[in-house]
Amino acid sequence: MSTKKDGIMVILSSPSGAGKTTIVKLLSKNKNFYISTSHTTREPRSSEVADKDYYFVNHEKFEKLIKNEEFLEYAKVFKHLYGTTRTPVIEKLEKGENVIFDIDWQGADQIKNKKLNYKLITFFILPPSREVLFERLSNRDMKDKLIVEERMKEFSRDVLHWINYDYVIVNDNLDECYFKINNLIEAEINNGSKDYDKDYIRKHVNKLTS
Ligand code: 5GP
Repeated sequence: MSTKKDGIMVILSSPSGAGKTTIVKLLSKNKNFYISTSHTTREPRSSEVADKDYYFVNHEKFEKLIKNEEFLEYAKVFKHLYGTTRTPVIEKLEKGENVIFDIDWQGADQIKNKKLNYKLITFFILPPSREVLFERLSNRDMKDKLIVEERMKEFSRDVLHWINYDYVIVNDNLDECYFKINNLIEAEINNGSKDYDKDYIRKHVNKLTS
């Protein structure tokens, strides 16, 4: 049963390179959100810490978690499996803690369709332009041109899912983007007025996809 004291769930999704990870960390630091740690079958990157950034597991272990119905959601993203286990999330929500998820549109759809008794707010973060996205992806740890091209193609497909989110935010400035998300979360919690222009977003998506 949901009560007023339950925590809320916030999902942040974005095509790769739109700047979501930094925003998730800011929300966790400034607003005390618990970051849901996912399981994945992909290899850790050099900067990543096991059991903090991800639980890195092999296929066998991941399949076992699926079989035991431990996932709240899971999906295949860029050839690897990613999933959120149910128990830690529900435990936090029941204690009144807010939980933030950095997951893709497939996971967001699954959680949305579960219609859990906790408030859910979903955000989709977009880059200001295809050129900026290309630059961001090229400057990352992806020296491989093929990977950048693959992610640009993936972007064109991912962006079409913007329509299923509560809010779409354009990240041309990290502080402003965080500020907007923060204000919308506050407005959602307190039933306040929301500064959000869906028409502008529709035009921006058209620009990104044309
Ligand atoms: P990366 O490998 O770059 O950390 O993440 C690749 C993509 O997988 C990102 O879009 C990220 O949001 C998504 N992702 C990470 N964890 C999960 C998860 O548990 N479930 C789903 N559905 N997607 C995830």
